[in-house]
Amino acid sequence: MPCYVTHLEGAIDGAILAAGQLQTMHKDRPLWVRYDLTAVAKAFTKEMLRDREPTLWRYRELLPVTDDQQIISLGEGMSPLLACPRLGTHLGLSDLWIKDESQLPTGSFKSRGMALAITMAHGFGVKRVALPSAGNAGGAAAAYSARAGMEAFVFMPADTPMINQYECVTGGAKTFVANGLINDCGRIVREGKDRMGWFDLSTLKEPYRIEGKKTMGLELAEQFNWELPDVILYPTGGGTGLIGMWKAFHELASMGWLASDKRPRMVSVQSEGCCPIVTAFNKGDRFAELHQNAATIASGIRVPAAVGDFMILDAVRESRGCAVSVEESRIRDWMQTAMSHEGIAVCPEAAACVGAIEKLTATGWIKPNERVVIFNTGAAQKYVEAITNKPRSIDLQQPIDWDAIEAV
Ligand SMILES: *Cc1c(COP(=O)(O)O)cnc(C)c1O
Repeated sequence: MPCYVTHLEGAIDGAILAAGQLQTMHKDRPLWVRYDLTAVAKAFTKEMLRDREPTLWRYRELLPVTDDQQIISLGEGMSPLLACPRLGTHLGLSDLWIKDESQLPTGSFKSRGMALAITMAHGFGVKRVALPSAGNAGGAAAAYSARAGMEAFVFMPADTPMINQYECVTGGAKTFVANGLINDCGRIVREGKDRMGWFDLSTLKEPYRIEGKKTMGLELAEQFNWELPDVILYPTGGGTGLIGMWKAFHELASMGWLASDKRPRMVSVQSEGCCPIVTAFNKGDRFAELHQNAATIASGIRVPAAVGDFMILDAVRESRGCAVSVEESRIRDWMQTAMSHEGIAVCPEAAACVGAIEKLTATGWIKPNERVVIFNTGAAQKYVEAITNKPRSIDLQQPIDWDAIEAV
């Protein structure tokens, strides 16, 4: 199948870079992948999707792969889009949905980005990759590197959830924990580049993770029959998911695939324990300052400084959306609320979005009948440290107390 990529583009200044070779950043800022969308629109029709596999590779014309043989895949994509009437009623919304990314390989949407990043790096001949990770990116990098037969180095904060540490080690990645945050781990990767000869897979430091994550937006559009919702709430760390989806909506619009001009208002959700994007949004700034002493159980959004800050803030503002921080101490309660109402294994990051809905419906920013989508970016089961709700005990030395069981 032909590849429709025309070039890469510096996000900070629009500079044009060649696509057919390994690229990283431009002026220390991320790159966009650009396509000949007119040609894509001619070659690709909605009808063609009917016969394609329910994975992210169904949008092959809008992906950067040049040779199908090179695809490194674990069968990722087409996550369920679930109506949430009970949780909606609880929150005062009549049309609430969760797009459940917890069902993807490695239990988070990170597999979308890694499938593309590893496919491309592998295709360009990279043998060794490294990245800092606050959690799920490390697990996904370990899995896809193993799948590709590549060597991976992962550097994590020492208090990263245990499951993420185990999945990296068990997945064969050379895994290290450091007594700092993800940006400190990022420095290790940067400084080791020449000595270790690895390719830096950090969020937005190579152009293809966005392309994988934009498939969340493509799927959402297809699942809603090409009519986008009113509001999307997205837990924001490095921002690739939000940036990628906004890019997807632009690409679909310029191909004429969207049923109407309506674009969702993008809501970037963070915890008060780490909210650099919210702070910058409220100040009217395009670039975010480092959030000091970042701390949240929602490890995926514990990113005190994002290299794509301006891309997140541009997308939020262009969409007439907003950035909201929520109370850290209530994240566990929102996990329980979401899981007990709908049976969806909501991670702490997505639970923060439940808190954001409470805030935004209270102020009238979200109207009761609007169509609202939360992205459940990962599986609750990966966060053993965050889940503190314990079952009650039964003492088998005593007669079973049925009244006590009934009373629970
Ligand atoms: C990485 C991660 C996020 C943040 O995603 P970005 O696209 O980097 O902003 C949110 N939730 C979970 C579970 C994650 O692993």
